Amino acid sequence: MRLVLLGPPGAGKGTQARVLGELWGIPQIASGDLLRAVVRENSALGREAASYMDRGQLVPDEFVLKLVAERLQKPDAQKGFILDGFPRNVAQAEALATGLERAGLKLDKVVAVMLPDEEVVKRISGRRTCRNCAAMYHVTFEPPAKAGVCDKCGGQLYQRDDDAEQTVRERIKVYHAMTQPLLDHYRRLGLLAEVDGIGRLDEVENRILAAVGGSAAPAGARVGRARS
Ligand code: ADP
Ligand code: ADP
Ligand code: ZN
Repeated sequence: MRLVLLGPPGAGKGTQARVLGELWGIPQIASGDLLRAVVRENSALGREAASYMDRGQLVPDEFVLKLVAERLQKPDAQKGFILDGFPRNVAQAEALATGLERAGLKLDKVVAVMLPDEEVVKRISGRRTCRNCAAMYHVTFEPPAKAGVCDKCGGQLYQRDDDAEQTVRERIKVYHAMTQPLLDHYRRLGLLAEVDGIGRLDEVENRILAAVGGSAAPAGARVGRARS
């Protein structure tokens, strides 16, 4: 399976990509996670990337394309992948298609997880992320068993700097201007399915599974934090 998850910030792309990646035995590749790893190294490039991320702007394509291309070369991505947060504009989508074509590959599906702007703000303002394994929680909707501690690895949960409300508003604008046109792009290619991002985690998961032509996951096959 070679899948792209599209949708505004907070739609649940990362949460769903993790569950589905475990279900299918393929990696979740999140451009935001790749970028945050570079930022943590505190190199000159990392600091430059952070200057865009802190403002809610897109990091320049050249930088993101290189990071994602390197990640896609790794052995674990050869049997498939779930891209989350990439591509973010039409130029990135075209670069991805060209890169896959060169390897004789193509995307199987693009699923857009839809969420209205007012829900985006609620989701993002309560989001907490694990410093160690990047798992996502929500203080109200998906709280960890113990406040501030990751259920999966015991890591510390934190609030991303760019999850502050003012930056979220900017990210929503950037989404509408740069990323939303990708829906039409992939619709024209016959790859797009849209699913409603509102509902329980397992409901959204089953919508995505239906959209990619699979059946609903049996409860026992589901791993990770998905609850029923
Ligand atoms: P979210 O899913 O909440 O929007 P991400 O972790 O995907 O957050 O992205 C966080 C930030 O990282 C973005 O606001 C942007 O600055 C940068 N970023 C992530 N992916 C890309 C990309 N594909 N192209 C450019 N910038 C990106
Ligand atoms: P994205 O990767 O699209 O930016 P995330 O997966 O990080 O989104 O989810 C954003 C926030 O919303 C997180 O705090 C997450 O725990 C929460 N969340 C994800 N899916 C749902 C859902 N179906 N219902 C309620 N909250 C959710
Ligand atoms: Zn963790």
